[in-house]
Amino acid sequence: MNVGFVGLGIMGTPMAAHLVAAGHTVSGYDVVPESLDKLTASGGRAASSVADAVEGAEVVITMLPNHPQVEHVVLGQGGVLESAKPGTLLADMSTIRPETSLEVAKAAQEKGIRVLDAPVSGGEAGAKQAALSIMVGGEQADFEVVLPLFEALGKTIVHVGPHGAGQVVKAANQLVVGGIYALVSEAIVLMEGSGVDAGTGLDVLAGGLAANRILDLKRESMVQRRFEPGFRIDLHHKDMSIAIAAARQAEVSLPMTGLVAQLIASARAMGHGSLDHSALLKVTEQLSGR
Ligand code: NAD
Repeated sequence: MNVGFVGLGIMGTPMAAHLVAAGHTVSGYDVVPESLDKLTASGGRAASSVADAVEGAEVVITMLPNHPQVEHVVLGQGGVLESAKPGTLLADMSTIRPETSLEVAKAAQEKGIRVLDAPVSGGEAGAKQAALSIMVGGEQADFEVVLPLFEALGKTIVHVGPHGAGQVVKAANQLVVGGIYALVSEAIVLMEGSGVDAGTGLDVLAGGLAANRILDLKRESMVQRRFEPGFRIDLHHKDMSIAIAAARQAEVSLPMTGLVAQLIASARAMGHGSLDHSALLKVTEQLSGR
């Protein structure tokens, strides 16, 4: 397929490379020039603008930080809706608030462009290993069109409902991930505060009922205080805000989510926004005066 790819950051760069490796023609754009160099190194074509990336594309993928960037790239002047031919399919794989996905779908429909919200989980490692979970909102027929592309990027690929449903599932994912980081941090602080080796302790946890992927992937780096991103605190802060807004919309109460959101907001306020979200440990430590 001819694919236009906008947003070649931590996630977008390896994802675009996998699409090229799977035999697709990828024309990519990012505002950061070095990202374009990485794309050409992996066999893609560096486009000079969103319009250039989208020209001739059957499918356009966006992998951008948040809803203002998606609005700019998709709805803005020279953006995807203005540049893509009718019949093009836009898969927005960014994590954004569900209502923006709905707005984008409505605006796109007026231009004859089909849209899916298709946020991902699995982190940088999942993107690099083509092992992402992809949760897709939109029409079933459109899902089937992009499935071959998604299969080059992920392992668990599920159509979860209509437009916006993918973003709701991603919000649910993020509140669980945030909660796990908060509690793994507390486990480390408890063990270290009690004079017990936290690395050894977490090894035991990882083999019992407390086992989870975050313990598998991050326990060593957390104990060693290595917090290079990965997934930045700033982005997780954005995702907790999305989860809380979605809860308000759905008129449900999520008290734990509120608490974790406050801890992540504290991490940001302490200047850790550019660190990996595992740096939530720094907040937990500080609360104990450590
Ligand atoms: P990132 O900041 O590394 O990448 C975003 C890219 O978009 C950057 O390269 C940036 O230059 C580019 N960009 C911004 N505005 C642009 C514009 N107007 N035109 C073209 N390019 C533009 O972020 P990321 O970590 O790759 O995350 C991307 C999305 O995926 C976010 O919504 C994030 O929440 C989500 N996500 C990230 C992870 C992760 O572990 N990093 C995991 C799952 C989901």
